[in-house]
Amino acid sequence: MSTPTHRFHDPSHRALAAVLAAVLALSALLAAACASSGVNQGDFNLVSLEEEWQLGQKLERDLAKQLRLVNDRAALSYVNRVGQRIVSQTEMRNLPWEFHIVADNEVNAFNIPGGHVYVNTGLINAADNVAEFTGVLAHEISHGVSRHGTEQLTRSYGLSIVASLLLGENPAVYQQILAQIVGTGALARFSREAEREADHLGVNYMARAGYDPMGMASMFEELLRRRGSQPGAVGQFFATHPLTEDRIRDVRAQAEGIDRSRLASRDSGYQSLRQRVGP
Ligand code: ZN
Repeated sequence: MSTPTHRFHDPSHRALAAVLAAVLALSALLAAACASSGVNQGDFNLVSLEEEWQLGQKLERDLAKQLRLVNDRAALSYVNRVGQRIVSQTEMRNLPWEFHIVADNEVNAFNIPGGHVYVNTGLINAADNVAEFTGVLAHEISHGVSRHGTEQLTRSYGLSIVASLLLGENPAVYQQILAQIVGTGALARFSREAEREADHLGVNYMARAGYDPMGMASMFEELLRRRGSQPGAVGQFFATHPLTEDRIRDVRAQAEGIDRSRLASRDSGYQSLRQRVGP
């Protein structure tokens, strides 16, 4: 008498069946959530891409009032061209991305949810060539593609607060996040794992976009050097992106494994950009 039909007449088995159904429903929900989390498989992100892009739009509007943005059309058009070239190699190429330049001498760049990437004029001055510049740009784009920002928000504030934030129902937390971006030059402090993920993806995207990913390693080395010689100028970057010798070694090793003979490290457009936004 142990056919499945008979089993479900027993009340305890019926309860088990209900639990199983609930587990199945939950796994379907989590699978759907994973599907929306871009390349970042294995991490749950319950914020939909549509919600993330809406939040990004709102943040971008408010940041424009609080940051000193560069409005030079030629400079913006160049940075956006290079940025889109990298984005076109990612899993989020079909979403709108926008690149902004902040008039700030700190060597820093950051990504906020919804495909907005900000680069400081200080970074453009510090990066000697387009490969070094795109090294940092690709790293930031990779944080965005991996959705590290909304992941970190969910971890810091909890899903219910993030949900209320997305609905525009939590102006206090929203203002706190905005103030943090303006004050620290980043949405969040990323974990070492997030940094490694952004480096690894960034190297691949750079190479596929035609830029020499060795530029990422040499830019990181430059940042480490500056931490010794002028710590004030790289403080924000180091506070939010833990950068170690290990990371640089891994980036270098990954870049060495790629055929770089046809990849660019210099272009004249980048040199004009430096002249336009230079000190
Ligand atoms: Zn980072």
